[in-house]
Amino acid sequence: MNRQTPITTMFLCLALSATAQQNMDTVKIRPQKLTDQVYMLKGAGGNIGLLRGKDGLILVDDQFAPLSDRIREAAKTIDPTAIRFLINTHIHGDHTGGNENFKRQGITILAHDAVRDRMKTEQVNKAMNRTTPPRDPDAWPVVTFGSKMSIHLNDEDIDLIHIASGHTDGDIVVHFRNANVLHTGDAFVRYGFPFIDVSSGGSVNGFITSLDGILALINDQTRVIPGHGEVATKADLKLFRDRIARIRDEVAAALKKGMKVEDIAGLGITKDLDADWGKGFVKGKDFVLMVAENLRGEQK
Ligand SMILES: [Zn+2]
Repeated sequence: MNRQTPITTMFLCLALSATAQQNMDTVKIRPQKLTDQVYMLKGAGGNIGLLRGKDGLILVDDQFAPLSDRIREAAKTIDPTAIRFLINTHIHGDHTGGNENFKRQGITILAHDAVRDRMKTEQVNKAMNRTTPPRDPDAWPVVTFGSKMSIHLNDEDIDLIHIASGHTDGDIVVHFRNANVLHTGDAFVRYGFPFIDVSSGGSVNGFITSLDGILALINDQTRVIPGHGEVATKADLKLFRDRIARIRDEVAAALKKGMKVEDIAGLGITKDLDADWGKGFVKGKDFVLMVAENLRGEQK
């Protein structure tokens, strides 16, 4: 454990406890129609994508377990056809919390190999000194893959793609090619500075590689469903990518000069972004610290 750990730990614990304390009883699931067949559902936790059609519904992410019935009801109001597949964009509980509930109803869960591997085993986060037990086997994805797979249903071609390990090592994006809609999972979020889960295999360089890969898949008409926040465009994603890359480059340059991580966090690298992004759960200084620790760790 290094000297910077307590700061990282502090903001992570705050963020996690905020999620845990959210009162699920009052949460409403609100669908937003993006195309004839594709919807985004908001509630609490990560945004849900939904593809409707005669062959059965496909859900992308499932928020928290107490919301499963409400998610199902919301899906039914859009299309009474049964849910056939549930895709997990990555392992985090605000995107996979309902897995057990959906799988017990016979719905097939798909995800990257690393999501299943991590759910099966105890997860130890050294920096946070926190251990997460394995998930119930009913939560584990049934169909997994390494780099890419496709589903062809409802007159749609859906690509599930692992571009790079950025937010975690099991990140995938879900591309509804005909509808021109892409769900990014937490590879792209709109609450401000993103969280890079290094203990789950994420990295800042992977984060940027992943965003470059997404930019190459989409065009100016693409509707982008972010992991959190409102529907976005390619231009929004490009701005997000450029800001993170600029921070990464400045942190890397400071490390190259031999600066200590804690001194880099005090340089004010994010001060022009704090008004716009500083309201999120990751503060600018914490993000710089996270990036600096990650880059220094990769140098070792
Ligand atoms: Zn996440």
